[in-house]
Amino acid sequence: SKKAIVIGAGIAGLAAATRLIHKGYQVQVFEANSYPGGKLSEIEKKGYRFDAGPSLFTLPVQVEELFLLSGKNPSEHFQYIKLPVACHYFWEDGNQIKAWSDINRFADEVESKLGEPAENIRKALKSSAFIYEHLSPLFMHRSLHKLNTWTNKDALKSYLKIGKLGIFSTMNKANEKKFTHSKMVQLFNRYATYNGSNPYESPATLNIIPHLEFNIGAFFPKKGMHDITQSIYRLAQELGVNFIFNSKVDEILVENKKAIGVLVNGQKYLSDIIVNNMDMVNAYKSILKKQKQPKFLLNQPKSSSALIFYWGIKKKFPELDLHNILFSDNYKEEFEHIFHKKSIYHDPTIYINITSVYKPDDAPEGCMNWFTMINVPNNQGQDWDSMIQEARKQIIAKVNRILKTDIESMIEVEDLLDPRTIESRTSSANGALYGNSSNNMYSAFLRHANYSSDIKNLYFCGGSVHPGGGIPLCLLSAKIMTEMVKET
Ligand code: FAD
Repeated sequence: SKKAIVIGAGIAGLAAATRLIHKGYQVQVFEANSYPGGKLSEIEKKGYRFDAGPSLFTLPVQVEELFLLSGKNPSEHFQYIKLPVACHYFWEDGNQIKAWSDINRFADEVESKLGEPAENIRKALKSSAFIYEHLSPLFMHRSLHKLNTWTNKDALKSYLKIGKLGIFSTMNKANEKKFTHSKMVQLFNRYATYNGSNPYESPATLNIIPHLEFNIGAFFPKKGMHDITQSIYRLAQELGVNFIFNSKVDEILVENKKAIGVLVNGQKYLSDIIVNNMDMVNAYKSILKKQKQPKFLLNQPKSSSALIFYWGIKKKFPELDLHNILFSDNYKEEFEHIFHKKSIYHDPTIYINITSVYKPDDAPEGCMNWFTMINVPNNQGQDWDSMIQEARKQIIAKVNRILKTDIESMIEVEDLLDPRTIESRTSSANGALYGNSSNNMYSAFLRHANYSSDIKNLYFCGGSVHPGGGIPLCLLSAKIMTEMVKET
């Protein structure tokens, strides 16, 4: 049978490998690290377990589809629960809002606590559903680089609704029109960070994101986020995918405008097709450096990065949920720092993810595993060591103010991830979490295609190419890409 080589065992590479088996390929995956999963890995330290990267899980059907395709019952291999509360929001003035998955309950809570009419929440989520309904068939499930995507009936339907898809406004402006209370504008603006963008610049079309969390649901894998990549890895192995770890690909070999194989540790491996899951920008700088460079795409602004403290906390805080947000008092200034000043605002929005709330064995008895994250600029060679030291102080002070505690004395385990280590561990350009940012219409929708238009037999999947970053879109990139590959 024909041979396929996949470069990288990130979530998209794993999904591509399983899908290619079903297309009749013999599949080999080369992974630079000693483990699969890329950004979706885990850390274990002194009785605490942390999911290292992603913590928000939407659209689990995209994972299940891989099991169904292989004739397996997904629930025997990968289990998850639907969250009753998508997020618990805290402000410095003592306000707290729970984003209940029951929309009416959420809307009523917002009305009673902030005076924002419940109807405004329901309307906003309906308009979010409208964008999803019109854009997802076009954008999420197809290549935007093939003519028939633009001429099929879904596309024609969307053109008619173009005024309502938020293409001509920014997310913040659209939210200011929808809500009367600035806290609701802030809460809904936060969804721009789900793909590392700036709500004050990105198109209001990104208001599609709350639809995923509220209308379809926020979920949590019973064995933690890490089980998403672990379960797909096990499936790929059962299907016969051959994984080769600690093997960094140095070059994609191209002859007569055709990809013919890869070079690893000085050895050539030949193949009929090559699928690249490595970040597109760094791939063109390294394994494709001899090839024509798509300069315009490579120069698009990158998404934001993150600073994470993995803290083992020797106390339980019953008021905290799986996802918690401690909001900044000046959101605009915070994004100004992330995207323009390229520094860290002194009052950052803090996200605390605590998997031990749903998975008690992730922390010792009476303790909690805090994944404490702030959004930060991507790596431009800033003085990270001093910025991190300062941010740590600000984070601790803010947590203490809001939770009325002394958190530093409860930290018994600590680990750190910053833009530099995000880049060095998974080779993502500037340590950006989601490839290009979506801060303008072009970068939001036109990412690198899922195939090369110059080099035959070369395909792309992962967070830096179409349709974009985040687990569901990465899984869809593998699907769109595989559909372009001819059956063997
Ligand atoms: P990656 O995970 O980037 O993996 C690429 C793989 O390729 C790596 O394993 C790397 O070692 C390998 N590789 C690179 N170069 C080579 C080479 N030359 N040879 C061989 N192998 C190579 N998404 C969500 O949906 N929800 C979230 O809550 C969320 N939060 C996030 C928080 C953090 C801190 C981070 C870092 C990301 C977050 N994301 C989130 C984004 C999500 O993690 C990514 O979009 C997704 O995991 C990217 O997957 P990928 O397939 O593109 O590959």
